Amino acid sequence: MNLIIFGPPGAGKGTQALKISDKYGVVHISTGDILRSALKNGTELGLKAKEYMDKGELVPDDLVIGIIKDRIKEQDCRNGFLLDGFPRTLPQADALDSMLSAEGMEIASVVSVEVEDSEIVSRILKRQQEEGRSDDTEQVVQNRLQVYRNQTEPLRGYYEDKGKLSEVDGIGSVEEVFSRIVEAIG
Ligand code: ADP
Repeated sequence: MNLIIFGPPGAGKGTQALKISDKYGVVHISTGDILRSALKNGTELGLKAKEYMDKGELVPDDLVIGIIKDRIKEQDCRNGFLLDGFPRTLPQADALDSMLSAEGMEIASVVSVEVEDSEIVSRILKRQQEEGRSDDTEQVVQNRLQVYRNQTEPLRGYYEDKGKLSEVDGIGSVEEVFSRIVEAIG
């Protein structure tokens, strides 16, 4: 089973993604994690991505599409995967559809974790104090939210039209949100 977890920055996607991948035995693929690890290792990809990530902008489509294209061909994805942080734009969603059909795969379900803006900002600022992620400062967070609303949120309609979108309330404890997700996946 191939899944997508979708939602604004700070919605708790990463936390829920780990629990989903554990329960359903699917590989967790986070483009944010892949880019941060490239950055840490000083690879060319990391260097290219850094200027965008630091500003809270999206990394160019061709870079992330290339990452996912290679990743989903790997053997461990045959039993299913969970995409976290991808797709984030309509061209990314289109590219994903083409690469999946080329591999004879499809997306079973897109889980949208819904959290309002004021809650997001306070959660992310708290995370910044705990984890020190460099793109978690207030100004960058506001920009990431803007980018999300403008470029990523339109994907809800895209997956709704395909009958694949499930909306889940992201307010509550980790376990509460997780049980809503499990119900949504079915
Ligand atoms: P969050 O969901 O909290 O914003 P992520 O870890 O998913 O955090 O992403 C961090 C940053 O990595 C984004 O702000 C963006 O710069 C970059 N990034 C991650 N995934 C993508 C993607 N699919 N397309 C473009 N940029 C991406």
